Amino acid sequence: MKKWFAVTITALVSTLGLAANGWVAGELKEASTQLDQRQFAQAFEICHNLLLIHRAAPLGRDAADEARLLLGTAGRKVKADNPKVFSDEFLARAKRLNFVRAGCAWMPAEAKAQLSADAAAKLDKQAQSKLCSQCKGACVSDCPNCQGGKARCIACNGTGRATGGGTFARTTCPVCTGKGKAECTFCRGGGVVACPKCGGGGLGD
Ligand SMILES: [Zn+2]
Ligand SMILES: [Zn+2]
Ligand SMILES: [Zn+2]
Repeated sequence: MKKWFAVTITALVSTLGLAANGWVAGELKEASTQLDQRQFAQAFEICHNLLLIHRAAPLGRDAADEARLLLGTAGRKVKADNPKVFSDEFLARAKRLNFVRAGCAWMPAEAKAQLSADAAAKLDKQAQSKLCSQCKGACVSDCPNCQGGKARCIACNGTGRATGGGTFARTTCPVCTGKGKAECTFCRGGGVVACPKCGGGGLGD
C-alpha cells in the first residue's frame, strides 16, 4: 500500500513538472523565433514575463538563464519604461493562448493552478512593487564585460596583430581583422544584459 502510494505521488509530481516546464520551454522557443524575425519587443516581453514569474516561482536554472540571455539580446533594441505594463500585442497573444493574470505576470491557467499559495502571494505583491533601483525598470543594464558590445579581442589580446612571433607577428589578427576588438561573448554583442539586481523583472522588492 505504501509503495503504491509513493509511486503514484512520484508519477503525479513528474507529470506536474512536465506540464509546468512544457509551457515555459514553449515560451522560450517563441522568444528565440521572434528574435530571428527581429521582433525584439515581443521577444523581450515574453522573457520579461517569465523572469517576473521566476522571482516568485522559480522556473529552473536553465530556463531562467535562457530567458535572461534572450532578454539581453532583445534588450539592445528595447528597454521597458514601465515593466508592469505589457503591450497590447503581448496581451492579445496572452489571450489567444488562454493565459490568465497572476499578479503582475501572465501564465496558462493550469500553471497558475499549480502555484503554491506563497508563490501566488509573491506575484500579487510584485504588482505593487516599485521599479528596480538599478535599471529603473528598463530590465537590462550595460554589459559589465564590454562597451557597446565590443570587447577586447581575446585572440590577440587587443593588439590587432596575430600572435606567434617572427614575421607572423606582423600579420593581422584573423579574429578581429586588426581592430583589436571583437564581439563580446558575454552579451553576444548586444552591449546589454538582464539587470543583475532585479534579474530582468524590472521591479524592486
Ligand atoms: Zn533592475
Ligand atoms: Zn584580434
Ligand atoms: Zn558585452
